[in-house]
Amino acid sequence: GAFLSFRNVKKSYDQKTLVVKDFNLDVQKGEFITLLGPSGSGKSTVLMMLAGFEGVTSGDIVIAGQSVTRTAPYRRNIGMVFQNYALFPHMTIAENLAYPLRVRKMNKAAVKDRVNEYLRLIEMGSFGGRYPGQLSGGQRQRVALARALIFEPSLILMDEPLGALDKKLREQMQYEITRLHEQLGFTVIYVTHDQTEALTMSSRIAVFNDGVVQQCAAPAQLYERP
Ligand code: ADP
Ligand code: ADP
Repeated sequence: GAFLSFRNVKKSYDQKTLVVKDFNLDVQKGEFITLLGPSGSGKSTVLMMLAGFEGVTSGDIVIAGQSVTRTAPYRRNIGMVFQNYALFPHMTIAENLAYPLRVRKMNKAAVKDRVNEYLRLIEMGSFGGRYPGQLSGGQRQRVALARALIFEPSLILMDEPLGALDKKLREQMQYEITRLHEQLGFTVIYVTHDQTEALTMSSRIAVFNDGVVQQCAAPAQLYERP
């Protein structure tokens, strides 16, 4: 069966209007799923429910055969990357990367090895001792990406992670994310309103409009007429 399933998921914030109307999606392990749609169409709400920061109004979310709707966020084993990278400013890059491993009680030697491995993976091997304020926006976003991946979560959520970057940097980061996805094989749910971004990176795209998925297909199939 699917690794991740949304089953008849609905969300209302005010007990009147549904901002997510009846969301159903099966995701296989290793897929790169993009939720594409205009602002206010319900994409982030789906992500927040998956992360556990918002409850579902009705329906179920199932990860690896287990319903998670009553599971605390930190127990869902999900990595996240947002537009405002939110690295800890008072910690070095290496300490930022070590943090998710430390809270999971990994031993010090293993943390050091893993941090170095991920610094190399994002081609920032010599940046471990710097602070976030000493990096460029693109570098900070690569570190944020590495920090979301470093504890090997079963799922990665990204909400407009490239929204704050200029066009050139955004294209570089698209390539970087694709490369890491191919290399590491993690499962991604990616939110954007940028069609080009969605078409470039996704295995499948769910097109949102007003709380409803209008189409869900691979990029090549998406805009073909039936
Ligand atoms: P998108 O990510 O596609 O921009 P959102 O999921 O953020 O869409 O928003 C969907 C709808 O839900 C919008 O009408 C938005 O105003 C509303 N909404 C989002 N978050 C909240 C919240 N915390 N409280 C009340 N309404 C919200
Ligand atoms: P502490 O002395 O409290 O362990 P450190 O600043 O030495 O704090 O390191 C925090 C974590 O980040 C440690 O787990 C360490 O293994 C890792 N770390 C620190 N600096 C580097 C670095 N330059 N390269 C790789 N890992 C590092």
